[in-house]
Amino acid sequence: MSDFDYDLFVIGGGSGGVRAARMAAQTGARVALAEEYRLGGTCVIRGCVPKKLMVFASEYGEMVSDARAYGWDIADGTFDWGRFRGQLDAELDRLEGVYRRLLEGSEVTVHDGRARVTGPHEVRVADTTFSAKHILVATGGRPALPEMENAELGITSNDIFKLDALPESILIVGGGYIACEFACILHGLGVEVTQFYRGAQILRGFDGEARGLIAEEMQQRGIDLHLGTNVIGMMPEGTGVRVKATNGSERVYDKVMFATGRTPNTDGLGLEEAGVALGRRGEVVVDDYSQTRVPSIYAIGDVTDRVQLTPVAIREGMAFADTVFRGQPTPVDHALIPSAIFTQPEMGTVGLSEEDAREAGPIEVYCTSFKPMNTAFAGRPDRVLMKLVVCAETRRVLGCHIVSPGAGEMIQLAGIAVKMGATKEDFDRTVAVHPTVSEELVTMRAPVRTA
Ligand code: NDP
Repeated sequence: MSDFDYDLFVIGGGSGGVRAARMAAQTGARVALAEEYRLGGTCVIRGCVPKKLMVFASEYGEMVSDARAYGWDIADGTFDWGRFRGQLDAELDRLEGVYRRLLEGSEVTVHDGRARVTGPHEVRVADTTFSAKHILVATGGRPALPEMENAELGITSNDIFKLDALPESILIVGGGYIACEFACILHGLGVEVTQFYRGAQILRGFDGEARGLIAEEMQQRGIDLHLGTNVIGMMPEGTGVRVKATNGSERVYDKVMFATGRTPNTDGLGLEEAGVALGRRGEVVVDDYSQTRVPSIYAIGDVTDRVQLTPVAIREGMAFADTVFRGQPTPVDHALIPSAIFTQPEMGTVGLSEEDAREAGPIEVYCTSFKPMNTAFAGRPDRVLMKLVVCAETRRVLGCHIVSPGAGEMIQLAGIAVKMGATKEDFDRTVAVHPTVSEELVTMRAPVRTA
């Protein structure tokens, strides 16, 4: 029996923290977890899950008009935000309960309160100090507001799920995952959406051709996207916000939403006082095993600002438990992580963009863009894109980029092949599934470019 109250004290009950706590407890370790808000964290309570449910809700408008084109006699409906929000709140309550039961079933002691590290082996929650052999920081991140006068007039993705009513108009600032996803969602729900992005093209870092098509599709659907544009000033006006922009425009929006990046949650946690090193953005600095400079303190997930994705935090949590509680030192493999952006159309991506691959050596690019059968029949101009970036020497597929309805589902499967090191010829040897959109991935014969 150790001298500590617990073998592991986890701070933060999001996807990463909960998984690490359960995995450690399964080895017989005595585990506690503190959460200051709601179990489930960003992904379940104010991120991926409610966002995806809003994506589903926002897609029904187009489905109804498509159904008419397919011969169904359906009247236009209206979207009832209040009814949806009630259902959404109930679903999130249910999921939070699932997380609590999972922890309790694994015999993890849950402390509902804010924890602070008070030493290499000490955590304080409210008035009680607990000792622990190991501490795991899994406190995630929060939306960052830009440094600008009156920035607090804007809302963030955290607030969207709690709106009493949908605004008539919204300005979304930013060009990353969150800005683009919410621009599409809110547009689909009937909100008049304007989006400002300060750079030359949205979704910086992703494949150029794919970004271009998404921007085009968003504009064609009716999102008023302004590139190379940022907010200069904001003033309250009535119940809205008057915004002056670098493109010379000035108008009042019902709401302004900032999706300008996320900040690691390390403020007031006592980490630096305990000897833990923090990076420039406040992130916890860790090694390949998620260990900080203080040997007893580890950190996983968004608070480490490595790859801000739920499944990555979960992997890091499992690798931590293997390393510390199963005696199997396990680094997390951050290479070739497939991911999806739930814009309309979706993007699924794994590996290198054409631009990054070109830097690494000679490549062949296979790409096709076309109007898919489903929406073309309904008279919509939507296009999809299938793209493979191939190493000219090894023939390995270095990157796969898909812009299409269902791209998130497709890339999960294509990601297996790419992770296995599949070559272009392996893709070619695979018989097409016909008629599908994704069959194009195995039928592209000649490169469109070499570089
Ligand atoms: P991102 O870092 O992806 O995007 C931030 C955006 O805001 C960029 O376009 C950036 O511009 C812009 N920006 C930053 N500061 C300012 C400023 N002061 N003024 C104007 N614009 C600014 O962050 P997000 O908040 O969109 O997402 C955070 C993370 O969450 C992502 O990295 C992703 O890992 C994760 N996520 C994943 C999702 C998924 O898997 N589907 C969905 C949602 C989030 P610039 O490009 O010029 O820097």
